[in-house]
Amino acid sequence: MAHPATRADLEGQWNNIQPRLLEEYGEKTYLRWLKPLSIVDQQKGCLRLAAPNVFMRDWVVTNYAERVKDILHSEHNNINRLDIIVTPLEDLSDDVFSEVQDDENLNLDPRFTFDNFVVGKPNELAHAAARKVAESETVTFNPLFLYGGVGLGKTHLMHAIAWHIKKCHPKRKVIYLSAEKFMYQFVRALRFKDTVSFKDQFRSVDVLMIDDVQFISGKDSTQEEFFHTFNALVDQNRQIIISADKSPSDLEGMEERLKSRLGWGLVADIHPTTYELRLGILQAKAEKLEVSIPPSVLEFLAHKISSNIRELEGALIRVVAHSTLVGRQITLESTQEVLKDLLRANDRRVTIEEIQKRVAEYYGIRLADMHSPRRARAVARPRQVAMYLSKHLTSKSLPEIGRKFGGRDHTTILHAVKKIDELMEREKSIHEDIDLLRRTLES
Ligand code: ADP
Ligand code: MG
Repeated sequence: MAHPATRADLEGQWNNIQPRLLEEYGEKTYLRWLKPLSIVDQQKGCLRLAAPNVFMRDWVVTNYAERVKDILHSEHNNINRLDIIVTPLEDLSDDVFSEVQDDENLNLDPRFTFDNFVVGKPNELAHAAARKVAESETVTFNPLFLYGGVGLGKTHLMHAIAWHIKKCHPKRKVIYLSAEKFMYQFVRALRFKDTVSFKDQFRSVDVLMIDDVQFISGKDSTQEEFFHTFNALVDQNRQIIISADKSPSDLEGMEERLKSRLGWGLVADIHPTTYELRLGILQAKAEKLEVSIPPSVLEFLAHKISSNIRELEGALIRVVAHSTLVGRQITLESTQEVLKDLLRANDRRVTIEEIQKRVAEYYGIRLADMHSPRRARAVARPRQVAMYLSKHLTSKSLPEIGRKFGGRDHTTILHAVKKIDELMEREKSIHEDIDLLRRTLES
């Protein structure tokens, strides 16, 4: 390019390589670290990008900048250097992270206490273990490893432990941080050649909690450091609490010795929610919000929003906010209206295939019989149950459902739905079957 690059040129060049970055790093990394970068300017072959904060800048510089520069250069050979700065106005310097060292300010969510935690079958083990750790003077199991899907209460339990210890044993030093922050601090310490105080900081705690440890998978040097910190603390009989989205043995990109070490203490998983737990949580939250919500609405939400508790809470808050804003009572109809899109998204999570599989298992018939033309009662009835559930638990149309059942006509599906409705009125056992199936499918 003979003329100096204009901003539009630069943006064009940067945009050009986005698909390659996405491909190379995968969606998660790309969205989290690379997409937020923006163009500043270019001088003498040096392209300047801005990151939203110091943390992100440091992380990008350490992990991605070199490769990103090579990719840029391969597409646009006028660029041979990359500089990443912090978006000037948002340069929060180091304040955001120094808080981690401050024992008084652990960044704990005031709502995440044991009092506010509703216990049910899916989380009773994790809850009991968390309580035990919080209340014990001595270390009973080390580490306590909590795992489960998103929004099921891992962070809540960790904060609850921290709150409890802060209240009952204010002298004990507790550190709670995300694996991401742990990693950030480590990277920083390396950069500023200050690993000694980094180590001291962690090695002088009584209780160390690291949340979402799956985040350090694949990050070898951070894992290495984490492993040493971990061992040092265990040797000194300090309590460690870890959370992750998978069990230790299922963590991908983790060193074997670390995986095995993580599983040495108590591994407690939080299972997907059940209808009862969801209803219990909604009741507790409704009480806290001090609004009157008809039980039918809570039951409806507990039925429909089965993905995770965060989404369940969000739905409740939306319903309450809407009613406050428009000054009308909460009803089943208004709830369905306010949550239209959310309900649709939740519906999509149960597939017809899953329904067919569960129903076939439940009645002990072959999966193939869901599609077969056989009319024997022993297979026809379960098939109708599956059709009925497909109609109620997914947002698929009757013709679509028909296609999935061996290309049957939509009137056949309609007939099945009516038939099962009728039977449910008369036969308690069918009613129970459907209830049970619905629950397992929705949990
Ligand atoms: P995770 O860390 O597992 O992704 P969180 O701990 O952030 O999930 O929980 C998501 C939301 O659900 C939080 O607002 C939390 O308070 C709430 N929550 C989760 N489990 C429970 C529970 N058993 N009782 C009450 N609220 C819960
Ligand atoms: Mg969490």
